[in-house]
Amino acid sequence: MLLPPEAGMPYVRRPADLRLEPGSLTVEDGVIVALEDDPGADVLIDATGGAIVPGFVDCHTHLPFAGWRAEEYEQKVTGVPYEEISRRGGGIASSARALAAASDDEVLDQAREIRTEMLAHGTTTVEAKTGYGLSVEAELRAAGLARRIGDRVTGLFAHSIPAGYDAAGWMDEVDALAARADVDALDIYVESVAFRNEDLARLGEIARREGVPLRAHVEQFNANRSVPVALDAGARSVDHLACLHPDDLAPLAAAECAAVLLPGAEFLGAEQLAPGRALADAGAICVLATDCNPGTSPVLSMPLIVGLAVRRYGWTALEALAACTLNAAWVLGFDDRGSIEVGKRADIVVLDSPVEHLAYRFGRNPIAEVIAA
Ligand SMILES: [Zn+2]
Repeated sequence: MLLPPEAGMPYVRRPADLRLEPGSLTVEDGVIVALEDDPGADVLIDATGGAIVPGFVDCHTHLPFAGWRAEEYEQKVTGVPYEEISRRGGGIASSARALAAASDDEVLDQAREIRTEMLAHGTTTVEAKTGYGLSVEAELRAAGLARRIGDRVTGLFAHSIPAGYDAAGWMDEVDALAARADVDALDIYVESVAFRNEDLARLGEIARREGVPLRAHVEQFNANRSVPVALDAGARSVDHLACLHPDDLAPLAAAECAAVLLPGAEFLGAEQLAPGRALADAGAICVLATDCNPGTSPVLSMPLIVGLAVRRYGWTALEALAACTLNAAWVLGFDDRGSIEVGKRADIVVLDSPVEHLAYRFGRNPIAEVIAA
């Protein structure tokens, strides 16, 4: 059974301190009530030979979306440049058209299917983002749909610059959206083809005004030096980091800001690798997520993400587990889950094999049982 180094920790910077020891627990009314057996319990689960770990927290997905973009993936892997794919109508604009064409029920049905599959892969808490609206009204609709899908809703109003706007002009709309929409955090995509560091700084001010955490997609394809800007703005997380500038690593590791790494997007997009080993060695609050989205990471399996992280970042299984449980819960502002402690929500996964197998038997789903509260 995987236990935190001590009770009440908001996150762990040194996952080697996690305790992996024989044990059992008792669940009552959706809460962990004891770290021992109750022989009189209504249901007994024998986890002999396996492992008991917290339910996975997927803190970075792009649900809700409509349909997939498989044809685009084939173009990408056979060498069609992104600009050409985009010219053929692909990219974020393609997902925006699909979302606009789909009814609420169609979007929700697809999202529920995905959440069911996520649950079967051990994920008990999911973040949802807006971002495929690309207009004020469509982003408000996306926020409403996200509320019905995710356990937390992030307003990624600054995802792509809609036609007819420049970055600053759309940021005026983002400002108004942030005041109107029901979201738990704000997010922005900073990249040469999207928003700039000055927009990130502005979103930081908006997030402060609205009293919600700031998150940011940064350094995915280029080192834009967005991390210092995000840290100045008090960001809760910086996500992607494949092109993190070496000078920004130590300040990030020292900050109370999570490094959310997305190895599924890195692998499927043949991107550079985020410096996962160096971030972990420096004591950063490391987090893993699927980035589940129809464009760059149509992945919903956290065991697969753990397998990628362990192999490609050179992480231990414990480092990967901390990154998709307690640390990911902290990113979403949940202190009631993410670790096995008395009083926490009973979000529990029983693996059918030791924790090291989670990464080692790559691509296999080792989830034997999931208890979601
Ligand atoms: Zn993303």
